[in-house]
Amino acid sequence: MAALAILALIGAAASGAGGASALPPDYLAIALKVAGQGLPGCRSYHPDGSEGPCLPRFAIKRSGGINGWSLDGTITFTRGATERLTEDEFALLAGHEIAHWYLGHRGSSVEAELAADRLGAELACAAGFDVARGAEVYRWLRADRAHSKGGIRLGVVLTVKCLG
Ligand SMILES: [Zn+2]
Repeated sequence: MAALAILALIGAAASGAGGASALPPDYLAIALKVAGQGLPGCRSYHPDGSEGPCLPRFAIKRSGGINGWSLDGTITFTRGATERLTEDEFALLAGHEIAHWYLGHRGSSVEAELAADRLGAELACAAGFDVARGAEVYRWLRADRAHSKGGIRLGVVLTVKCLG
């Protein structure tokens, strides 16, 4: 059941939109772990009769920068994020983008970013990643306009409590 869902996700990501391609398996595994039980209160139904959690699709785009974004249920990471971040850092970035989707954010604001930081860190923490170590990712994201306010955001992330 879980394996089927993951295969379906890989298939969906492989045919991904906008020139993006499938996230490498190691990183897909981290992202799925962080995504946990999927969108709360949501179930997805497949043509083969199976049923599963509502999870975002994951893709990767060729870029040396470190970034990620969430759009229409697809979360895309730059290749640089997979090549240059540690697992804990990648988990925190994935958590942030997954949180944008779970929270239904459209567009960016300081409030939305801080809310995604908080829930993202809780998700990464619940998945067993080290949030304090992962928070190093803000060193990289500070240079990115959509992900500015690095100092405040680091503070938010470091105060989260792990979800049960
Ligand atoms: Zn964001």
